[in-house]
Amino acid sequence: MRLSRTFIPTLKETPSEAQIVSHRLMLRAGLVRQHAAGIYNWLPMGTLVLRNIEQIVREEQNDAGALEVIMPTIQSGDLWKESGRYNDYGPEMLRIQDRHERDMLYGPTHEEVVTDIFRNNIRSYKDLPLNLYQIHWKFRDEVRPRFGVMRGREFLMKDAYSFDLTYEAARHSYNQMFVAYLRTFSRMGLQAIPMKADPGPIGGDLSHEFIVLADTGESAVYCHKDLLRKSIPLVVDYASNLQPIVDDWTSEYAATDEEHDEAKTIELGDDLVSARGIEVGHIFHFGKKYSEPMGAQVASPNGDMITPFMGSYGIGVSRLVGAIIEACHDDDGIIWPDTVAPYRIGLINLKVGDPDTDKVCSDLYAKFHEIGMSTLYDDREERAGVKFSNMDLIGLPWQLIIGPKGLKDGTVELKRRSTGERQILPLDSVLSTLTGPQSEVGLG
Ligand code: ATP
Ligand code: MG
Repeated sequence: MRLSRTFIPTLKETPSEAQIVSHRLMLRAGLVRQHAAGIYNWLPMGTLVLRNIEQIVREEQNDAGALEVIMPTIQSGDLWKESGRYNDYGPEMLRIQDRHERDMLYGPTHEEVVTDIFRNNIRSYKDLPLNLYQIHWKFRDEVRPRFGVMRGREFLMKDAYSFDLTYEAARHSYNQMFVAYLRTFSRMGLQAIPMKADPGPIGGDLSHEFIVLADTGESAVYCHKDLLRKSIPLVVDYASNLQPIVDDWTSEYAATDEEHDEAKTIELGDDLVSARGIEVGHIFHFGKKYSEPMGAQVASPNGDMITPFMGSYGIGVSRLVGAIIEACHDDDGIIWPDTVAPYRIGLINLKVGDPDTDKVCSDLYAKFHEIGMSTLYDDREERAGVKFSNMDLIGLPWQLIIGPKGLKDGTVELKRRSTGERQILPLDSVLSTLTGPQSEVGLG
């Protein structure tokens, strides 16, 4: 993409409405603009990042055996009257009436809708296990929308729902999502720590929140320091017994504020990290809470009708954009992890109008396009200083800086955004350096 042709309304000044760094940088780098309290427009750069995150989430859900669907954003209130939540949910639910004065609502979550799909279409144990997920917009009329997309009212969530015949099978479904979540967040460059969370009315130990540590996080959390550097399983066979992986991750102490056991503070001493955290995901087993009242049943192998066990599994896809920036930035701007960056590389033309520089830049730009490396080409007639600071603010992983001075010696400069490290490269080795077998840049 040529910078002159895209739409990246960067801001020099720090917007006064933003209290935390990710919100400030999302506004300054032109990722989002607020439409109304807690409701955002996603501009081109923000949309690219959101789509990259979404794609990682999707690939990992698919690998774990979940099936993607799209459920409606506007739901019928009648279903919620069946589950009993229509009155219980409270003012966070945006209630709407259609022209026939039927009660509708903008979905804050989809347990009722997915259970309705199940009961109308699944008859036999042979169709189990089943895990349906979507990546879709939710609306919750939060009392205090704040911190930009971190706590919005309209936000993008991945929500998955599992159905199983037995508790043991439901536990396996839970473990599949647990492991998929470890891999999902790690691919985005985040260390998200699974922490014991409030299991709700069902009880048991099957509820975990996945927490990214950040000073600006809304929750107080506690965990053993070894969890900050634990590695993620690289290859997973989702059909195998995943309990050892889950046990390995849950054997060290980690809990959210509500679940925290004060005795652990003394017991663990210096090994306990007490920090703030951002909840980027939440997984939850709730048994028959919805399947029972809504009459979802399947025939078991011996013909008895059985009410399935269910779980639900959320990821805050739009919140992740903010969480990643909280974890990956410096004073100059965002530092996107390679896997979610809107473009892999920024090509900076230091002297637009100089025929040699223009030619080298546009040839490389064309070449990058050809090999599928996503590139943002700063072809604007702007001062070099402006281009450098814009590129740092936007935070692409690599910058290739090209100007007449270097070209006189046949060289260009490559900068790694995360370390600030610079390399002078002979022009004719740019492509092999960027794409060769030893290259860190890789194809975008
Ligand atoms: P929170 O405790 O932050 O209000 P929650 O527990 O109500 O979240 P869940 O129902 O568990 O949220 O939703 C699944 C995921 O969706 C959360 O882990 C979080 O990442 C994300 N999420 C929830 N509410 C919001 C929101 N208002 N804005 C952005 N993301 C959200
Ligand atoms: Mg939650």
